[in-house]
Amino acid sequence: MIAEKNMVVSFHYTLSDADGVEMESSREKEPMSYLHGASNIIPGLEQAMEGRAVGDSFSVTVDPENAYGIRNDNNVQRVPLKRLKGIGKILPGQILNLQTQQGPVQVTVLKVGRFNVDVDGNHPLAGKQLTFDVEITGIREATEDESKHGHAHGPGGHQHD
Ligand code: ZN
Repeated sequence: MIAEKNMVVSFHYTLSDADGVEMESSREKEPMSYLHGASNIIPGLEQAMEGRAVGDSFSVTVDPENAYGIRNDNNVQRVPLKRLKGIGKILPGQILNLQTQQGPVQVTVLKVGRFNVDVDGNHPLAGKQLTFDVEITGIREATEDESKHGHAHGPGGHQHD
């Protein structure tokens, strides 16, 4: 079996930035699982997975455009503290869920003032070139439910309540 449309692929990965600094790894956890061809993972990684088999190891470097996008400075906003009532003490670096007219948005706190908080709505990995060291640990056909839902179920995949 190879990684192609409608297959559930499991893999271990180590993610490093352009300086080779490790940012994240699945090695201490279960492998991650995703439904191939359903845009469950970033485009650059999904492309690199295409046609691979179990046991394959490879390294791929993905530009921001094919990862989490480029940074948009318009996503940095000043929010009145009174809009954030009930969150408790807010510290720089903290991730908050902001309610907006477009629905909940995850933001990173940049600066906390007396009346306002500067937040960054860009994905923390936006604008970054990312290198993934990947080892494919499993490939299986997607179940009917998985195809219907557009994501993988079970360990390393989507958990339903
Ligand atoms: Zn589902």
